[in-house]
Amino acid sequence: MKYDRILIRYGEISTKGKNRSKFVNQLKANILSSLTGFSIHIQAGRDRMHLLLHNPEDVSPIVERLKTIFGIQSFSPVVKTAKELDEIKEQAVLLVSSIKKTSATFKVSARRADKSFPLDTNGLNMEIGSHVMSRVHGLLVEMKKPQIELVVEVREEGVYLSAETIQGAGGMPIGASNKASLMLSGGFDSPVAGYQMLKRGVEIEAIHFHSPPFTSDQSKEKVRQLAAQLAGFSGKVKLHIVPFTAIQQAIHKQVPENYTMTSTRRMMLKIANLIREQTGSKAIVTGESLGQVASQTLESMQAINAVTATPVLRPLITMDKTEIIDIAKEIGTYDISILPYEDCCTIFTPAAPKTKPKLEKIAYYESFIDFDSMLQEAVSQTEAEIITPGKLEDEIQSSYSDLF
Ligand code: ATP
Ligand code: MG
Repeated sequence: MKYDRILIRYGEISTKGKNRSKFVNQLKANILSSLTGFSIHIQAGRDRMHLLLHNPEDVSPIVERLKTIFGIQSFSPVVKTAKELDEIKEQAVLLVSSIKKTSATFKVSARRADKSFPLDTNGLNMEIGSHVMSRVHGLLVEMKKPQIELVVEVREEGVYLSAETIQGAGGMPIGASNKASLMLSGGFDSPVAGYQMLKRGVEIEAIHFHSPPFTSDQSKEKVRQLAAQLAGFSGKVKLHIVPFTAIQQAIHKQVPENYTMTSTRRMMLKIANLIREQTGSKAIVTGESLGQVASQTLESMQAINAVTATPVLRPLITMDKTEIIDIAKEIGTYDISILPYEDCCTIFTPAAPKTKPKLEKIAYYESFIDFDSMLQEAVSQTEAEIITPGKLEDEIQSSYSDLF
């Protein structure tokens, strides 16, 4: 089936009052960048957008991309015809037969903005409906909730036909709500947390802590793959890889074993915050979920969070592991996270980490080392690269300061 345009309906975007045009423009820009290479044009209105296809074409690759763009509630491929009844009928038959697989319930919903058209709404419904029923087998008329609703809109400039409403990704357009720094491990949770933020329209940069030789190159590669998967939703993700070995070793030398995990998390958060300051992002995001492991009790979070006043957002805080895994499967990060390569925390995890660490104690243990200069050193050795979907560009820039 050759379509001429795609009608795009906004979700929450249309409730944003005065900010609406900002949201609409952001969505338009995101769609255009996701569809680079296609010959298209967008007409954006207050409630809906028309994506015009310059060459009537097979829309399936465009449909697949649109499904991943946040801010789209639903969309419908549309055929445009002249205001000629015979042509409308012919295209209606083609359209319905192209989407009908087995038998289906069916109705026609005509709208007539151009009152000069000879048939009124009822007349259009009858004429087109009976024609389609006589040509396409296996259709059963159903007025309330038909499986196929053929919408026919007669306007001044022509007639628009559509028969399919495809579910969009929902949420808000990325870029509409500023930027946050995602602490991305190789596990199941943090990529899902990143996805949840993207869905709310927040652009993300990822920060990963790497401890060679205790963690392998494969574990770094795994994180790059996770970032590439997230980039499938946002176009690109900047990934910062922080060398963390020296700090982890210092912690293990100085801090009693049952407090090493708390201290490790505190140092990670401090570094994440230093990088966040340089990138201009507004919050830190983690994949923590309440009670999942020792570092994720409220007492632990309090002791860890005490190092910064920056908002630490935890989109998975109330979710069960099974719910998180379901999303991971849906967004394609599950198959990457399940790879065996361990990250720095798994390797250094103490046998019995404190579930109720005391802030005074941890501050005391940490006071014996000049952590601040070690943190600065780690930030200056951080490598950043831009990761795009599917393709992992090797653009490692070892000089961190060049990036800003
Ligand atoms: P995940 O599945 O995301 O690794 P988890 O349940 O295994 O989470 P932890 O390993 O305790 O939990 O990590 C809690 C959070 O700390 C992670 O979700 C992530 O945001 C952050 N984090 C842990 N390890 C790293 C790392 N090596 N680099 C960056 N962030 C990390
Ligand atoms: Mg983990």
